[in-house]
Amino acid sequence: MTVFITGASRGIGRCLVEEFARLGHSVGFCWLNSDSKAYELIDSLKKEGCSVVGFKADVSNKEQLCAAIAEAEKKLGAIDLLINNAGIAQSKLFTDITNEDWDRMFDINVKGVFNAIQAVLPSMLNRKSGKIINISSMWGVVGASTEVHYSASKAAVIGLTKALAKELGPSGIAVNCIAPGVIDTDINAFLTESDIDDIIESTPLGKIGTPKDIARLAVFLSGDSFITGQIITADGGFTL
Ligand code: NAD
Repeated sequence: MTVFITGASRGIGRCLVEEFARLGHSVGFCWLNSDSKAYELIDSLKKEGCSVVGFKADVSNKEQLCAAIAEAEKKLGAIDLLINNAGIAQSKLFTDITNEDWDRMFDINVKGVFNAIQAVLPSMLNRKSGKIINISSMWGVVGASTEVHYSASKAAVIGLTKALAKELGPSGIAVNCIAPGVIDTDINAFLTESDIDDIIESTPLGKIGTPKDIARLAVFLSGDSFITGQIITADGGFTL
């Protein structure tokens, strides 16, 4: 299978690349920040014998992203699975959110998903097969105080997933969504130790998640199944 993963120099995306590449799939990915980590990821996986290519490309820039996906397809073959993982977060009171904050959040978290799907879809439609997994957030399901623009963007990804699953189902393409809870990555660097302790205390499973928890779920969703249009929350029970 050929997989393309957005936003994969670090965190969940990086773990997705490692998981799929080590399972023997051909993996293309893009990233925006942490260049050295991205190059180190490509090098180390190639040394392991994995088939992997990576490009610095901003998902909110359709031209850049399409060029990266086209290059990945040229090197690895047509994309069978797209994982829309790239995303940003920001914590601000609603009254402090600027027009620029709002636009950037939606340009990356929502338009980036639109851009990537439009890039891979013509080939999936031709082949009448394919899978798309969108990474939303539990905050897109229940909403987070001081993260209204983030929550709204992730809720948009959920709406997109459900509508697109209906539209693409007859073409043999499944679209699903993972809504992670708090996962141990750099995106949460703004949380203090006591914030994390509070989250753990409010989580029935008594821990925060790891990128591997999300990667294993994505591997499951990439397999043959009767599942489409679903939002699978992986949050240790935090939002129950
Ligand atoms: P992270 O900040 O550690 O990594 C984000 C990755 O996305 C980086 O590789 C970065 O280069 C890339 N990226 C950011 N903007 C980009 C752009 N415009 N174009 C291309 N790449 C871009 O974040 P993470 O924790 O690994 O989060 C990954 C996804 O999971 C995000 O969509 C995030 O909203 C979602 N999520 C994370 C958590 C969590 O607690 N970590 C919880 C819920 C949802």
